[in-house]
Amino acid sequence: MVEPFRFRVNQHGPAGSPVREPFAAAEPKPGWVRLELKAMALNRLDLWTTGGLPGFPLPLPLTPGSDGAGVIEAVGEGTVLPPGLEAGSSAMIAPGLSCGVCPACLRGDDMLCPTYGILGHACDGTAATHVLVPAANLLPIPQNWDFEQAAAFPLVFLTAWEMLVHKAALRPGETVLVWGGGSGVGSAAIQLVKALGGSAIAVVGSEAKAMRCWDLGAEHVLVRDELKALAAKVRELTGKRGVEVVFEHTGATTWNTSLAVCARGGRIVTCGATTGRETTFDLRTLFAKQIQIRGSYMGRREHLWTLLALLKRNPTNPPFRPVIERVFGLAEYPEAQRHLEAGQGFGKVVCRVP
Ligand SMILES: [Zn+2]
Repeated sequence: MVEPFRFRVNQHGPAGSPVREPFAAAEPKPGWVRLELKAMALNRLDLWTTGGLPGFPLPLPLTPGSDGAGVIEAVGEGTVLPPGLEAGSSAMIAPGLSCGVCPACLRGDDMLCPTYGILGHACDGTAATHVLVPAANLLPIPQNWDFEQAAAFPLVFLTAWEMLVHKAALRPGETVLVWGGGSGVGSAAIQLVKALGGSAIAVVGSEAKAMRCWDLGAEHVLVRDELKALAAKVRELTGKRGVEVVFEHTGATTWNTSLAVCARGGRIVTCGATTGRETTFDLRTLFAKQIQIRGSYMGRREHLWTLLALLKRNPTNPPFRPVIERVFGLAEYPEAQRHLEAGQGFGKVVCRVP
């Protein structure tokens, strides 16, 4: 039995700077549970929480980590658990936190709640042996999945589903350009596009990553070099039409190429800006091509249940699954952060809890 420990961001610093400390996990309050974590997965958000974001002060000290899976160890007094779960059950965590009673929450748009926050950003997260979460944030683990897969699933699949289904309203037969096909959210998007009847053109940084995108069901894979040549290639692949949907999360560097390759009446959906957050573009392209641009941030918690229902239909050959690049031990969490920041891998970086 390992003494409980967690990682803390005491002050903002570079990737890998969170400090390990022992802690005694509190008893859950009513409506909350304590999970003994078995695995956690990293996201870009772990790096933002660690490094700090200008204009978004965080309640430091803070334990990062938004994704996790484990065993329900303690349940707050009078707490009702979601269907299929009881004390001692294995469960994974939906990372979004909201009030549950405001108009946005009541209509199901929990990510539009004025108090919306993400585990490991708004409150202590999963870079720990134990975590406290609202019972409403628990979900059963899909059949035949281990804790590592369960931990690697919620944030990126929820984000990709919201972008493709609800923001882009992807229709069968449409083509989607997926930037960063080797990232956690990109690898989720490629699989969901296929499951939804669309075809994905994935963009990756290397030949090795290209092979992995084929395996996930991408229709075409482009190894990123010069952006003008890439845009020409996309036009060629789509019969000069361009793609109906651009799945953006890369930001400044790729933004104008996204506009260039978007078909007339197409949609650009973005959830990130890893290469830079400021850009300029020609408004004439926007109106002449009648392009819609939509921002997206996480997604409705309810839709994780939708994804579970889709997985349940075919547990032996699921239509999508998280891609895990590398598994560290939780004690190596700082190293896992540095590895994620280097961005050389394909898929999710996970920490197994001893
Ligand atoms: Zn609310």
